[in-house]
Amino acid sequence: MKVLNVNLKTKKYDILIEKGIIKNVGMEIKKIYDGVKIAVITDQNIYSLYGNILKDSLLNYGFQPNFVIVDPGEKSKSINVLENVYSKLIEFNITRGDMIITFGGGVVGDLGGFAASTYLRGIDYVQIPTSLLAQIDSSIGGKVAVNIKQGKNLVGSFYQPKKVFIDSNLLNTLPEEFIKDGLGEVIKYACISSLDLYELLLNITSKEELFHNIDKIILDCCNIKKEIIEQDELDTGIRMILNFGHTLGHAIETYYNYEKYTHGEAVALGMYYITQKSEALGYTELGTSNKIKKLLNNFNIDYSFPNVNMDYINKTICKDKKNISGNINLILLKKIGEAFVDQMPIKNIYNFLQ
Ligand code: ADP
Ligand code: ZN
Repeated sequence: MKVLNVNLKTKKYDILIEKGIIKNVGMEIKKIYDGVKIAVITDQNIYSLYGNILKDSLLNYGFQPNFVIVDPGEKSKSINVLENVYSKLIEFNITRGDMIITFGGGVVGDLGGFAASTYLRGIDYVQIPTSLLAQIDSSIGGKVAVNIKQGKNLVGSFYQPKKVFIDSNLLNTLPEEFIKDGLGEVIKYACISSLDLYELLLNITSKEELFHNIDKIILDCCNIKKEIIEQDELDTGIRMILNFGHTLGHAIETYYNYEKYTHGEAVALGMYYITQKSEALGYTELGTSNKIKKLLNNFNIDYSFPNVNMDYINKTICKDKKNISGNINLILLKKIGEAFVDQMPIKNIYNFLQ
């Protein structure tokens, strides 16, 4: 088992990475929780595939689990569904001393984590991420949120879990498009922080090889994220480099109403395009965008920039919630493995992107 200790000012907790660990979750939770009631927030897909395994593991250690099952998909990250989750928690008599488990992809992690952070002013929770994206990114760092009609993740908080359990065996059932989704973010970690990870990924040419190396990849990504959030828990400085590819990626996602590209695919496009531009302007070592392209090719991730209306993209970028006093914090690469934040005046972004 690989264990990563996350040391934040407000909280310390472990990320446990091991194939098959879902069967031992009861035993592991016993070490950190001496109550009996547990509410497991999950979605219907995960519940059908793995609900019984988790339930048995919890029952074996004397816990009383109750499952809150939401519909799969982004629509469940809503205020309405959140309210239903609160009702279920009340129905199950979950009190402040009890425990929540979020068991699913990024949607369940964000929704369940936000429910945990607000229900009775906050109760303990552990994350069991089941999608690649959640295992390497969204389950770590404590950002939890729901969407409102004005935009994604506009209502949320920072709320760290008591523990994170990562079982890569669960990825065997993850549909292909969500593997690619996660790989977009994996490539991001390599680009911003690790030439070694870049080289490992470059040598992977099949799904078998990917799965053979998956625990090492997950560990590397979690480690990079852990080190960044330890320095900047509340996302006011260095943590911003995790947004590499995201400013443009988000704008493309919004342009297509979240229907054409997954998040990771849009981030991939953003990383490649921005790096082509920054390279041409001399901010980035020559050849870097080609290196990104090679990885995208390796994993069959589309890198051709879509035929979007650049005025729309520009406007969307300019009204991003992360802009501060007329500037955009644009994340660029010096080279593979090294990122920096460039504060660009909003008025310059249009020319930069042309
Ligand atoms: P994210 O990509 O942010 O993790 P979701 O939470 O919506 O997004 O998960 C993506 C989809 O994959 C959902 O339909 C979810 O039910 C499904 N899913 C997540 N993990 C697994 C898994 N291990 N096996 C099968 N399907 C999964
Ligand atoms: Zn992302």
